[in-house]
Amino acid sequence: MAENKVTVMTCVTCPIGCTITAEQDAEGNVISVKGNTCKRGEAYAKTELTAPMRSLTSTVKVRGGRHPVVPVKSRTPVPKARMFDIMAEIAKVTVDAPVAAGQTVIADVLGTGVDIITEDSM
Ligand code: SF4
Repeated sequence: MAENKVTVMTCVTCPIGCTITAEQDAEGNVISVKGNTCKRGEAYAKTELTAPMRSLTSTVKVRGGRHPVVPVKSRTPVPKARMFDIMAEIAKVTVDAPVAAGQTVIADVLGTGVDIITEDSM
């Protein structure tokens, strides 16, 4: 019979950085979360163990701008498992200057429901 799995992680939801210990059963279900100071830590641990998400930053090529690229980010975190596919999608894009900060360069990237937006104007 498979044993439960215990994972120790640092919650990165806020600067306090609580050390969280989470236990999963043999099927991967999270059955206990300890060490979190607030509910957000519990939610973080469950998401991290079942469907981890990450904020993504990169750059997009600019045609006619004062710099060749503009920094971009995901409007909200994206599935960690899709990061490389999304980076490849971003690498295909070139935008024309002028570019506004917060401008959407890819809407609903790869069907994730997340937009890729500029972080700066150009
Ligand atoms: S558990 Fe709550 S208090 Fe602790 S780091 Fe996470 S968000 Fe901050």
